[in-house]
Amino acid sequence: MSAAVSTILHAAGETAADVVIVGGGIMGAATAFFLRQRGLSVVMLERDMVGQHASGVNFGNVRRQGRFLPQLPLANRSREIWGRLPELIGEDAEFLPTGHLRVAFRPEDVAKQEQYARDARAYGLDLELLSGNALRARFPFVSPEAMAGSFSPLDGHANPRLAAPAFGRAARRAGAIVHEGAEVVSIAKGAEDFRVETKGGGRFRAPNVQVSAGAWARAFVNAFGEEVPLRPIGPQMGVTEPAPYRIAPVLGITTSVPEETVYARQVARGNIVFGGSVRGPASLETRRATLDPLNTLRQRRYVARLLPAVTKLRIIRTWSGVEGYMDDDIPVMGPSARVPGLFYAFGFCGHGFQLGPGVGATMAELIATGSPGVPIDPFHITRFKGAPTTKETPP
Ligand SMILES: Cc1cc2nc3c(=O)[nH]c(=O)nc-3n(C[C@H](O)[C@H](O)[C@H](O)COP(=O)(O)OP(=O)(O)OC[C@H]3O[C@@H](n4cnc5c(N)ncnc54)[C@H](O)[C@@H]3O)c2cc1C
Repeated sequence: MSAAVSTILHAAGETAADVVIVGGGIMGAATAFFLRQRGLSVVMLERDMVGQHASGVNFGNVRRQGRFLPQLPLANRSREIWGRLPELIGEDAEFLPTGHLRVAFRPEDVAKQEQYARDARAYGLDLELLSGNALRARFPFVSPEAMAGSFSPLDGHANPRLAAPAFGRAARRAGAIVHEGAEVVSIAKGAEDFRVETKGGGRFRAPNVQVSAGAWARAFVNAFGEEVPLRPIGPQMGVTEPAPYRIAPVLGITTSVPEETVYARQVARGNIVFGGSVRGPASLETRRATLDPLNTLRQRRYVARLLPAVTKLRIIRTWSGVEGYMDDDIPVMGPSARVPGLFYAFGFCGHGFQLGPGVGATMAELIATGSPGVPIDPFHITRFKGAPTTKETPP
């Protein structure tokens, strides 16, 4: 599209820009920032506060290993941006490239790790495979029961409370209009522009709209005659009391048993943040996800299998958050299949925090130039043509 309207225009109670972004999670905020870098005028409308939902309450894993392989070019782009946050947005969001270690407890899971490491190399992700004594010598805190591990040295973790608001502030400093407490109630396409209205009576006009409303995106998609199997679900988190700092990398498990899929990381002040196992229900209406205490007990068992020292620590807080999941576990990204100028970036299925900066750069490039810069075809909404509507409860 053309960058003809590069400044925000206010006329007859209506604000006009090149792009209106619906939703100020990490996807919306990063897109707003990168659109400004490309000189396009942007209004971002966030119903609550920037980064308040999934983007602000997640586990903080900045992990590439284990991803759907065709997603790695996007994840690699994102990882490169994570490393440059201070120069780009003036804050590091506590990103630490500590490495990410996944361990396996069964021979078939060791074989899966070996296969993934072979396949990932073609996508530019180099993983180190360690087994037996070599694994224990390098990572002495990991359970002696672990048979092998796959280490991704350049992955790491960041503070989810900081990242999306930092992108939002940087976008605003660069000239974006960012409204919090601005709930979008309608988006209508006219002959040329979209008209976007908020609950408080705000009116906005733009030739491009990006829907990055997380778990709440489906109503907007449906309004334009498209369908997606998007459901709100709550990943379950917890944190222990502090212990002496010893564990640098983020830890996870390679397993096909959902209950066993836990992950953990230690923050500099000593607490161990953990998550995973079975997910719980989440509500679009209350904007809350329910934490199941029985799941916390399950997590404790499997985190202790990974990291035996955890058995001695008290759990001091648990929480969950509303995340959008697709049936095929990969997001929707790219242009609408029906409406020119309408773009989607939602449904990140519990793994969007790492992708956030890369999604922002990619969506901004797509909107500004017509080309995304990295392959995102597998995420196009057309893959759901004819898909049945899904309910808002987890399976
Ligand atoms: C508990 C938990 C743990 C996770 N752990 C990790 C992890 O370790 N690593 C990882 O990579 N990913 C993780 N994720 C996933 C990651 O957090 C999400 O994929 C990512 O934050 C999604 O960002 P988003 O911007 O699409 O959504 P959100 O952060 O949900 O933002 C969407 C925004 O849209 C706004 N909105 C909705 N409707 C409207 C409307 N009508 N008008 C205006 N605004 C609207 C909402 O208020 C919200 O702020 C986790 C998620 C959760 C919940």
